[in-house]
Order: sequence, then C-alpha cells, then structure tokens
Amino acid sequence: MIEMTDIHKSFGALEVLRGVSLKVAKGEVVAIIGPSGSGKSTLLRCLCRLEAIDRGSMTVAGETLAAEGPDGRSRYAPDAEARRICRRMGMVFQHFNLFPHLTVLDNLLEAPLTVKGLARADVLPEAEALLRKVGLWEKRDVYPSRLSGGQKQRVAIARALAMKPDIMLFDEPTSALDPELTGEVLRAMRQLAEEHLTMVVVTHEMAFAREVAHRVIFMDEGEIVEEGTPEEVFGRPRAERTQAFLGSML
Ligand code: ATP
Ligand code: MG
Repeated sequence: MIEMTDIHKSFGALEVLRGVSLKVAKGEVVAIIGPSGSGKSTLLRCLCRLEAIDRGSMTVAGETLAAEGPDGRSRYAPDAEARRICRRMGMVFQHFNLFPHLTVLDNLLEAPLTVKGLARADVLPEAEALLRKVGLWEKRDVYPSRLSGGQKQRVAIARALAMKPDIMLFDEPTSALDPELTGEVLRAMRQLAEEHLTMVVVTHEMAFAREVAHRVIFMDEGEIVEEGTPEEVFGRPRAERTQAFLGSML
C-alpha cells in the first residue's frame, strides 16, 4: 500500500531522515516507536506532503508520489496528481485541528463537500454512520469547544475516515490527552485495525503497539534501527538502542 525507499530529509544542516525504507502492506497495522526527535513525525509529514523529501522515492497504492530525478533530488508528482494520491491517506495528529466554527457533523462533511464536491444528501448517511461508530452521534450538533479532548480526537478520526481513505496515518493521537481519555481513542483505533484498515501509528502507547500492531518499527536518529513483530521487538529486542529505549519506557 505504501512503499518508501531510501528517504532522506534535512532541515538545514540537520539530517532528520537518513535513508529510511518502509513498506506497508494492505490491511497491515504498523506502529512506529522511538525517542523524541528521531524523525517519526517528519516521516509521516513527508508522506502526506507536509514536508518535502530531499532524496528517495515513495509510492502509494502503486502510484508514484515522489521519485528521484536524474540529478538525484526527489520530486513529487505534479500538484493535482500528488493531491489526489495523498487523498488516499487520512491523517490524525496529536492536536485535533477541528474547525472550531463548524459543528461536529459539519466537521465531518466539510472535506467530502468541498474537496470531493459531493452533495450533502449523498455524504450525510456515511457521516452519521461514522459518528455512531466513534460513539459521538449525540454530539453531532455541538461545536468542538464543548467536547473533551478524547471526544475531539474521535471526531478527528471520524473526519479523516469521512474521506474514505485507504490508509490512516496517526501521529501520537493520544499524547495530548489526559490519561483517562486515551482509552476511548485507542478503542476507536483498535476497532479500525480489526476492520483491516491499513494503519501507520506513531505512538508512545507501548501496550497499544504490542497488542494491535502487526509490525513494530523502532526509529532512532533518523534511521530504522529495528523492526519486527511485537513479540520480537518488545520480547527480545536485538539492538542495544532498542533495549535502552524500551528500558526507559518502563
Ligand atoms: P517526538 O517524539 O518528540 O514527536 P519525532 O520523532 O516526531 O519526535 P520529528 O518531529 O520528526 O521527531 O523531528 C526530528 C528532528 O527534526 C528534530 O530534531 C526536530 O527538531 C527537527 N525538525 C522537525 N521539524 C522541523 C522543521 N520544520 N524545521 C527544522 N527542524 C525540524
Ligand atoms: Mg513527533
């Protein structure tokens, strides 16, 4: 579903991604763990074109999103095409970024109506079903400022799903939440995993990574240091850096 090959990315003199290659199969749930500053967010941001890669190539569902030119520099597909490819991916961030002036329901409808140009009556049933699914049907006419953090994040997830993405990318979706609110968000994500949605989840929730992910990737200093099944990475980590990181998470 996603194939990233030898991705390099620098901010000025700081090389943040140093040759990252990552494949994600359809229906796979991949958790990315690693210390602060290791490049996890940058990797996801490059994938949805919020940052530009310097070198390497990326395909999404078989389509080329970025490729290296003859000069060795990477270029993204032409704008309209890249936008279309990126729409296959829904992204949920640490901070929910809901539209404050729109109700919960209208937050879900906004992108399908404006980006896809669909008619309200056509997307309404789907949006309502998504709100039921994340347990927020009764909040459909409320504005985001009236929601708890966990509720806001569930709206953000439903809003991303309203675009019917093939892949969901999550960047620490629970790390801005009070501990008692993380469970409801993780439950919604677990449900998506059970429905075989392809997911890439950057997370500090080791229990979630262990229980829900099919594959765990440990990043440090812009590289993938180790990857394997949760049993492998958590149970018998091979690299010293993985062991040290997991030790620090206890
Ligand atoms: P965390 O767990 O704290 O979220 P992370 O693994 O997501 O960390 P990134 O946000 O990808 O790390 O950042 C990797 C490095 O790149 C950090 O040193 C960060 O300061 C730097 N960085 C990220 N974005 C920018 C930017 N826009 N300009 C300059 N430096 C940046
Ligand atoms: Mg981050």
